[in-house]
Amino acid sequence: MRCGAGAPHEDAEGRTALDFELTDEQRMVRDTARAFCDKEIAPYARDWDRREEMDPEIVPKLAEVGFLGAGIPEDYGGNPIDHVSYCLLIEELGRADSSVRGIVSVNVGLVAKTVLAWGTEEQKRRWLPGLCSGETLGCFGLTEPGSGSDAASLRTRAVRDGEDWVLSGSKLFITNGTWAGVALIMARTGGEGARGITAFLVPTNADGFSATKVTGKLGLRAQDTGELHLDGVRVPDANRLGGEGEGFRVAMSALDKGRMSLAAGSVGIAQGCLDASIAYATERKQFDRPIARFQLVQELIAETAVEVEAARLLVLRAASKADRGEKHTLESSFAKLYASEVAVRASNAAVQVHGGYGYIDEYPVGKYLRDARVATLYEGTSQIQKLLIGRALTGENAFA
Ligand SMILES: Cc1cc2nc3c(=O)[nH]c(=O)nc-3n(C[C@H](O)[C@H](O)[C@H](O)COP(=O)(O)OP(=O)(O)OC[C@H]3O[C@@H](n4cnc5c(N)ncnc54)[C@H](O)[C@@H]3O)c2cc1C
Repeated sequence: MRCGAGAPHEDAEGRTALDFELTDEQRMVRDTARAFCDKEIAPYARDWDRREEMDPEIVPKLAEVGFLGAGIPEDYGGNPIDHVSYCLLIEELGRADSSVRGIVSVNVGLVAKTVLAWGTEEQKRRWLPGLCSGETLGCFGLTEPGSGSDAASLRTRAVRDGEDWVLSGSKLFITNGTWAGVALIMARTGGEGARGITAFLVPTNADGFSATKVTGKLGLRAQDTGELHLDGVRVPDANRLGGEGEGFRVAMSALDKGRMSLAAGSVGIAQGCLDASIAYATERKQFDRPIARFQLVQELIAETAVEVEAARLLVLRAASKADRGEKHTLESSFAKLYASEVAVRASNAAVQVHGGYGYIDEYPVGKYLRDARVATLYEGTSQIQKLLIGRALTGENAFA
């Protein structure tokens, strides 16, 4: 179910209210992304979901269209678009398939942009071209079996041995985990707490590194999620990203970008649900009239429409701040908290609009609901976002 020019939420020229603030280039990125998603992703997404496996050929295609290097300078093999364009691109991916969207969000938002922000010139030249070309896909290893929300309590250790570091431990629920060529691993090099953590770029073909697939997910079924095992993995000090003890800051700066990206993907889900609901409600007849004529069905659609627009504005506000080089931690949390909850509400409403047909696989809304559900959990649950926002606004730390 797609929403092209002339669809209900667009004007006669195919523009949403927001487009009046977009540049021609930003609109072009969005339109290119939409065309790519229509051709290369949407037609296959439900089959991949059913098989719990996507075609790995999607990775070189994502690289070729410039998605894997989105926002990375050309010098490093990237596609230097701004954050607003990046979020528009991610929204399109989210509307087409969240499993594919996650590949890009993690590779770009959590890994490549973090290397760009924290890496030495040598590290950028070594890692960014492979991340942008998809030859060395990235994954982000923060969560462990015993530490999720309380990420600063992680136990993976890195011990100094001459010019090297030796890493041991495990990471759980890692997106791109078994596909990645490089893992950004947060490990403990010092004492307890956030200040004892250091970040490392770990090649996944290093001795002692292995990854196993996490299966049986509620949604994102086609996406590669892995558990990483590090058993005495040796990396040179040149693979340390940022200073010793700065790993938690590295991870949190990655999440500023990651949360914005996840929020954009959530807007895509919610927009897809809105499109599908409008199309279905105007076609489906009960009591001799389209169900769209019933006010209670219109309520479901109208509430979703308002929330989608509001969520998109929050995403683009965070992206605009990032484009101005301003700190956007709080705005990313606003966008992530709201847009992820909107995606869950919108997909639930869309299933309601579809009635029993929403509960089977014939329409896209059931998959949207399953895929949306994780958005309020990862990259900081909704509860954690509220505590981060509360801390920023009041100065009181609920984590301490
Ligand atoms: C499909 C998928 C992909 C993922 N990809 C990645 C990835 O690529 N890299 C990575 O590092 N991680 C990844 N994660 C992990 C994800 O970020 C964590 O699952 C998330 O941070 C929550 O941690 P947890 O699962 O341990 O839950 P917990 O932290 O155990 O939370 C359980 C519940 O307790 C609540 N809670 C915890 N602490 C508080 C508090 N102080 N106040 C109020 N409520 C609280 C939570 O909100 C939640 O409702 C992924 C997870 C999934 C499911």
